[in-house]
Amino acid sequence: MDHHLHAQPLTPLERLQIRDALQDRWRDQVRAITLLSLARYDRDDTGASAPLEAPGPGTTLDAALDRARARLESLEQAMRRLDNRSYGRCVRCGEPIAFPRLTQTPETTRCDPCSRQAVAASPSDDVSVA
Ligand SMILES: [Zn+2]
Repeated sequence: MDHHLHAQPLTPLERLQIRDALQDRWRDQVRAITLLSLARYDRDDTGASAPLEAPGPGTTLDAALDRARARLESLEQAMRRLDNRSYGRCVRCGEPIAFPRLTQTPETTRCDPCSRQAVAASPSDDVSVA
């Protein structure tokens, strides 16, 4: 079996594995967003009565919520790409993304080399680029 070769398209089984991985992470993100939203609601609601519990202004919680929402969005985009068969190609160089990387980070839009380049160029780039 040579399906680890870079240029192989995803097999039906691999697509199923990716879909599972995406759905797992999607559920995790929905849960995270719910918890973060509740935490923020609590803070907004009871801020006056419990000012010492918050480590600082709301920026950390808001930033975490923004990140969770952005990740949820990128997971949903990945599911759409999986449906319309454009999934698994690097947006930067157009090469197929290696399967192990896809199982690890199923919402990724870049192959390993391109992602490393982006991280080297700008540390925060890879997180925000869909
Ligand atoms: Zn690439």
